[in-house]
Amino acid sequence: MKTIEQDLALKLVHEAERMSTDERKALAAERLKALVEYARENSPYLARLYRDCPKDFALSDLPITQKSDLQENFDEWVTDREANSAKLKLHVEACAREGSSAPFLSKYTFVSTSGTTGTPFTILRDDYHNKIHGALMSERFLKIVGADAVSPRTNRIASVIMTDPRVSSYGSFLRSKKAAGEYGKNMLAVSIVESIPNIVDALNAYQPTALTGYPSILAMLADEQLAGRLRIHTGYVLCSAELLDHATYEKLCRAFQCPILNNYCMTEGGEVAFANGLCENLHLNDDWIIVEPIDKNGNPAKPGALSEAILVSDLSNYICPIIRYKMSDCVMIEPDRACTCGSRLPILKISGREMPPLLLCGRTMSPSALDATLEKAPEMLKFQIARVSEDALEIRLYTKDSASFARAKAWMEEHTRETLQRSGFSDVKFSVVAWQPVNDPKCGKFKVVVDEVK
Ligand SMILES: [Zn+2]
Repeated sequence: MKTIEQDLALKLVHEAERMSTDERKALAAERLKALVEYARENSPYLARLYRDCPKDFALSDLPITQKSDLQENFDEWVTDREANSAKLKLHVEACAREGSSAPFLSKYTFVSTSGTTGTPFTILRDDYHNKIHGALMSERFLKIVGADAVSPRTNRIASVIMTDPRVSSYGSFLRSKKAAGEYGKNMLAVSIVESIPNIVDALNAYQPTALTGYPSILAMLADEQLAGRLRIHTGYVLCSAELLDHATYEKLCRAFQCPILNNYCMTEGGEVAFANGLCENLHLNDDWIIVEPIDKNGNPAKPGALSEAILVSDLSNYICPIIRYKMSDCVMIEPDRACTCGSRLPILKISGREMPPLLLCGRTMSPSALDATLEKAPEMLKFQIARVSEDALEIRLYTKDSASFARAKAWMEEHTRETLQRSGFSDVKFSVVAWQPVNDPKCGKFKVVVDEVK
């Protein structure tokens, strides 16, 4: 198993932050070469896949990989012949039963994509990945607030989230609380389904020193703090799962007067980009993770344009090599822009709303207008637009209780009808249904528009 000393991992991560873009690119290229060489020698699947690639390959010579291929070929994809999917499945099930997270084969940690639909994808991480990504967390993400800031031993952490075990963030909250033992009392989950006055009361009573949640609910709590009804003194605010826009960032700064953190991480690629409280931008860890934004034809996305998808390469995972792995995220990497925080790492922007065109009644509809309309629905906490057949949409609606559901549903029905009519799609059928939000099982992020007809 590939390993590294903690001090060396910290040193490598620390040094690269001071390098120029070209120096970091060269370093990443060198790391990619070493990883591909290792994969060719130790992964029968990747050896086959890379058979025709020249020894002195360029990144674009390597074939694109995706979840289904890696899942189907798991036993030949992993680089340790002792590891296989049957053993891993048994181990994961045993851990779930016992509430433990014991390493697989006593050395590999494992992590799964979440979701209620689709097959969860479990991947292994080796010591090398864990130390490097741990160093990225402590050296870069928690640089301002300190590595202890996320520990319930030293902080009272309140998370305002969806308290549904099927939602990945709540699942990990429960695991961390359990792992914290007696310090578990220093972790509080408040459901976003509660009314704002109830959430405010709970937070005032708890007096957290750290606050985490989705930007949309944190923005409402910032209004409460500015109005003097919420009275907490949090050391930092950590945003997750949704796009953090400029207006929300500014409001959070004004209200809580503390560092506002944000991160972009994924099961497959690990810690991809961070905003560590010094600025609102996500900075890409491009010395360890290569992100290639691509357009709908699979070509590199134009500089300054949002991608249709990305290819991710995690240069530190040697047990389950993630190389040019396709994900559906829409991002843009800003070419060489100096940031106010002084970081030399590239700025990565994520699109908050992916709007795939939907084929309905034989015509292509852009869901943007419908999205913009439904976003204004009263009492709506979250919604999703799904294409469920060739001529029908399902509008999924999440509200705090049945009374508000009835009101929001009536509003949505009226406005959906109007919007479809205006855009020439009055023949499209639709229904508004009650729903519990779940993140996309593939990318772990929430999607406003989904196409479920394949
Ligand atoms: Zn910055």
